[in-house]
Amino acid sequence: MAEIRLNLITHEWVIIAKEKCKKPEDCIVMKEKRIRPEFVASCPFCPGNESKTPGESYRVEDEKGWKVRVVPNKFAVLLKDGERTRMNSGLRKSVNGVGIHEVIIETPFHNLTTATMPDEQLREVIRAYKERFIHIYKDPRVEHVVIFRNNGPASGTTIEHPHSQIVGTPITPLQIRNRVEEYRRFFDDNGECLMCKTIDDELKEGSRILFNTENFVSFIPFAALSAFHIWIFPKRHSSSFADIQEEEMRDLTINLKSTMKKLYYGLEQPDFNYIIRSSKPGNTYSEFVHWYISVVPRVTLVSGFELGSGMYINPVMPEISAEFLRNVKIPECHSDK
Ligand SMILES: [Zn+2]
Ligand SMILES: [Zn+2]
Repeated sequence: MAEIRLNLITHEWVIIAKEKCKKPEDCIVMKEKRIRPEFVASCPFCPGNESKTPGESYRVEDEKGWKVRVVPNKFAVLLKDGERTRMNSGLRKSVNGVGIHEVIIETPFHNLTTATMPDEQLREVIRAYKERFIHIYKDPRVEHVVIFRNNGPASGTTIEHPHSQIVGTPITPLQIRNRVEEYRRFFDDNGECLMCKTIDDELKEGSRILFNTENFVSFIPFAALSAFHIWIFPKRHSSSFADIQEEEMRDLTINLKSTMKKLYYGLEQPDFNYIIRSSKPGNTYSEFVHWYISVVPRVTLVSGFELGSGMYINPVMPEISAEFLRNVKIPECHSDK
């Protein structure tokens, strides 16, 4: 019989399809393997093509040129200029589409990915996330900021060059508002933060843990919404990613990269998204919200049932997928650029 698990953090039910459970190996999406070059002349994010992007808002230099660039998204979903205006006409409510939409070009090398990027480079990317996250929240029109990474066509991008995006929206998405209300309810009922409690529980049980480093823990949650869906939680209670400290950035680099290497080798370089879920800088929701990262390998598809019910189907037992990833051997020939 299938088991239906409740994900307390997202407040969604997940059917763990035990009966037709897949073996972890069945989630490997076979793709044509091709060698990607370090440099592609037509790529707007490769060095030498800087004039093909709008002007930079952030740059990390090194002796050879740049290491990280942040630029406005040429195809932004929200426009940078203009007032935020709310329209209320009976049942028709809207806000004009102003906001910030930037691209973080993570490295000059076209063929890197999170799993193969040198540690120091990935740390610069995380630092760029923090700088821009704090900066974008200074815009009074911005209510919510999300940082995310798309990698591969199944994740929603066709651009190969390693990049992330950061979007500041003029409204708080309903999903965020609903979750924050649930976190507050849990805190009021139990006197503790739901995420801190989840970290304690996961570490105690141990069967879904991937990496327990000094400041972060990565694990496949009890009610993972999809196959190999991973969470990376900071162990120190903190409501906002803006508050991450230098030492924690160093440790996050290790934890995130180790996790991505397991996916890279275990699931044959799957397409993936990762998302930083955080509240705004400052003391807002400080007691009951706890920021974290979701890593979502795009190895299964969302069906009409999921769209129609708001319930998810995970075809792999979280405990089995965690064990599978823990056992993935990183080849000795693995080299960071
Ligand atoms: Zn490129
Ligand atoms: Zn907490």
